[in-house]
Amino acid sequence: MSSISIVGGGMVGASLALALQAGAKAAGWQINLIEAQPPKDGGYQPSYDARSTALSQGSARLFAQLGIWDRLAERVEPIAHIHVSDQGQPGVTRLAAHDEGVPALGYVVENTWLGEVLLQALDTAVVHWLAPMQVIAADARAGGYDLTLKSDSGEQQLTTDLLVIADGGRSGLLDSLGVHRQQQRYGQTAIIANITSSKGHKGVAYERFTPNGPLALLPLSEQRSALVWTMPEEQSDAVMALPDDKFLQQLQQAFGYRLGGLTRVGERHAYPLSLIEAAEQVRPHMVALGNAAHSLHPIAGQGFNLSLRDTMALAEHLLAAAERGQNPGDLALLQAYWQQQQRDQQLTVAFSDRLTRLFSNRQPVLTAGRNLGLLGLDLMPPFKHMLARQAMGLKI
Ligand SMILES: Cc1cc2nc3c(=O)[nH]c(=O)nc-3n(C[C@H](O)[C@H](O)[C@H](O)COP(=O)(O)OP(=O)(O)OC[C@H]3O[C@@H](n4cnc5c(N)ncnc54)[C@H](O)[C@@H]3O)c2cc1C
Repeated sequence: MSSISIVGGGMVGASLALALQAGAKAAGWQINLIEAQPPKDGGYQPSYDARSTALSQGSARLFAQLGIWDRLAERVEPIAHIHVSDQGQPGVTRLAAHDEGVPALGYVVENTWLGEVLLQALDTAVVHWLAPMQVIAADARAGGYDLTLKSDSGEQQLTTDLLVIADGGRSGLLDSLGVHRQQQRYGQTAIIANITSSKGHKGVAYERFTPNGPLALLPLSEQRSALVWTMPEEQSDAVMALPDDKFLQQLQQAFGYRLGGLTRVGERHAYPLSLIEAAEQVRPHMVALGNAAHSLHPIAGQGFNLSLRDTMALAEHLLAAAERGQNPGDLALLQAYWQQQQRDQQLTVAFSDRLTRLFSNRQPVLTAGRNLGLLGLDLMPPFKHMLARQAMGLKI
């Protein structure tokens, strides 16, 4: 019996397990989903913090293919409009679902809810959910990998035909295998929190560029908005330490009054930001997926959406291999997956990176340029349409 072991039961690892389970059952393959964190009472695992994710229209379609969209949709907030502005400048760009002929430009989902829906959909007869259990070593051998797993009851060995590293890139497994991860620090930190405002968001997602860095407020249920506020690294400690009322005052100053008064802030989290890319994503019997393969700046909201497209493409190649009776760790098969996704990855990484650099720069020429860009964007529907389609994760 062939086996696939996925290290990391986060949003990406769990999505891959779900995408594989029906075909794996038919082929008699075993899927091991190994997660370091224990499951929470609600069934989902706690690495899903207070964060939210903007799902593109393309991701909604992929979740529909996986059979979980209806359940997810019970608690997602549709984005009807995107409003892009630059603090202290006149340019404003508005994207509307109606103009693009789609029901929504995207959907905001709380990571806890996405995690819960994903894990509930897993068929435990096919997917062995090993949690809390940490993979502490991976050693290549002929025909696969030997994994060392550690839990409260001690260590155990597991052999696998295909090792999928979906550990978020933080466990050091890729380093231990000699896979270099290129890191470019943006010198910025993102502060994340849920915000309540006096006026309803009416389905509008706001992206605002300030001299300190971009900030986004995405629509959530119950009049709340999910804040992603990027600022220079050296300022973030002081902003994190502010009492709630002072934090809200400072945010109000940067964001303005489009949502009325900002009245409440939930728990805050700070994430230092880098663009990280693994120099190798596939080897014989090994694939890196999700943040382990590429970790992007969150401002363009593309990281998970890209990873979900990778995940579905990988699952498609693996399931075709299962039908052919091919080993899931076959290098030619894994390379075919990567070649298929390479262009999408390059385009998406470049889109997020350029947007981040353009809108994080304080040079006057660039400020004027991007402002003209925003004005021009509102006046040039075909370009705006292209931007909207890229942001929605649809083919341009
Ligand atoms: C502030 C912020 C906002 C974002 N907003 C968006 C957005 O709006 N839209 C979007 O598309 N993307 C967004 N992203 C990106 C998105 O969050 C990531 O793409 C996504 O979390 C990657 O998921 P992952 O499963 O690869 O990694 P993770 O979520 O990090 O999961 C990795 C899992 O592996 C487990 N693990 C680690 N090591 C081991 C080990 N050795 N053994 C076993 N288990 C292990 C961890 O416990 C964890 O559960 C955002 C990111 C940030 C930082």
